[in-house]
Amino acid sequence: MKEKIEVQARKALELMKPYSPGKPIWEVQSELGLQRVIKLASNENPLGPSPKAVEAIQAALLDLHRYPDAQTAGLKQTIASHYNLESEQVIVTNGGDELITLVSEAFLDAGNEIIVPGPTFSEYEFGAQLMGAKAIAVPLKAEFQYDPEAILAAVTQYTKIIYLCSPNNPTGTFLSKTDLQYIFDSLSKQVMVILDAAYSHFASADQYSDGMEFVRSGYPLLVLKTFSKIYGLAGIRVGFGAAPQEIIQSMLQVKEPFNVNALAQTAAIAAIGDKEHVSRSQELVMQERERLYVSFRKLGIRYTESMSNFVLVELGPESDFIYEQLMARGIIVRHGKTWGLPLHLRITIGTAEENDNLLTALSGIMPAVK
Ligand SMILES: *Cc1c(COP(=O)(O)O)cnc(C)c1O
Repeated sequence: MKEKIEVQARKALELMKPYSPGKPIWEVQSELGLQRVIKLASNENPLGPSPKAVEAIQAALLDLHRYPDAQTAGLKQTIASHYNLESEQVIVTNGGDELITLVSEAFLDAGNEIIVPGPTFSEYEFGAQLMGAKAIAVPLKAEFQYDPEAILAAVTQYTKIIYLCSPNNPTGTFLSKTDLQYIFDSLSKQVMVILDAAYSHFASADQYSDGMEFVRSGYPLLVLKTFSKIYGLAGIRVGFGAAPQEIIQSMLQVKEPFNVNALAQTAAIAAIGDKEHVSRSQELVMQERERLYVSFRKLGIRYTESMSNFVLVELGPESDFIYEQLMARGIIVRHGKTWGLPLHLRITIGTAEENDNLLTALSGIMPAVK
C-alpha cells in the first residue's frame, strides 16, 4: 500500500532554487550523438589535474580503509605556510561550496541579512536561505564594476555578512585593494566580509588582492579558496577558508568530523607543491585570454575584460540561438540566463586547440546572426 507522505520539510526550503550546473559532457554526447564535446562551461582547468596530485592519490589508495584525518593537519599546515598564516587560521572543506554552507550555519540566524553584489555565484544566497536569512542583492555598476558606496549603503542592523567575489563569477571583474580597505574602514565591527577568491590565480591586475594580507592584519574577513579551478581537482572536492582564529573556531563547531576525504587531502598537498603545473595553467589562461579578446573584436563580439579563466560575452537577443548553435557543434558554454543576463554567455578559457574550435564555430555562426 502506498500512503501519502505528510511529513513537511522546513518552511525555508520553499524559497530555495536548485543550483544549475554546467551541462555534463556525457549528456551532450548522448543527446546530440556527438563524439567530441568541448566543455567550456564550468571554469575547470583544461590541462587537467596536477600530475603530482594524481601520483599522490595513487599512493594513498591502499589506505582507503582508514578514516581521513579529521583535523586535516598536513594540508592545513601546507596551506598555512604557503600563505604565511597560522594553522589555526585555516579550515579545510569539501570544496569551497561547503565553506559557504559552514559559514552560513555558524553565523546566520533567521532574520539576518547578507549583502550580495551581483550578478554573482548563487551559493551565497543558498547558504542564507538554508538558515532562514535574507540575501540583499546590490547591483554592480556599469561594466559590472564593484560599487563600494552601494554595498555600504545596503548595510542594516541585520547585516551579518558581505560577500565579495573577486574575480567575480560570472563577470570576471574584481574589487580593488583600495576599495576593500575602504569597505573595512567604513564597516561596523559586527559585520564579516567573505572574499571569494576561487579565481585569484588568474588575476593579473596590480590592484588585485586575494585578501590574505587583510586576514594576516586581523580584519573580520574570511577568504575562500578552492582546489577546483587552477589546481584542476574539481572532481575530488576540496577547498579552504582563511580567517582570524575566532571565525575559524565557530565554523569548526558545525563541521562534520570527516568532511574532507583522504584522497582529497593528499592530492591538495601535492597540488600546492606543484609550482610548475600552477604556472603552466596561469600562463595558458593569460595568453589565451588575450587571444580570445583579439578574435572577439574581429567578430564584433562585446566582452568584459576578465581577471579570471572565463570571459563574459554580450551577444544580444541572438544569444539563445548562438548558445544552441555552439551546443550543436559540441561546444558547451554557460548561458547568462542563470544570472539574469539573458543577452550574455560565459565562456571558460580552454586549451589553445579548444579555443580555436570555439572561434571557428563562432565565425561560422555569427554571420548567420547579422
Ligand atoms: C568554483 C567556485 C567556488 C568553489 O567551488 P568548489 O568546487 O565547491 O570548490 C567558489 N566560488 C566561486 C565563485 C566559484 O566559481
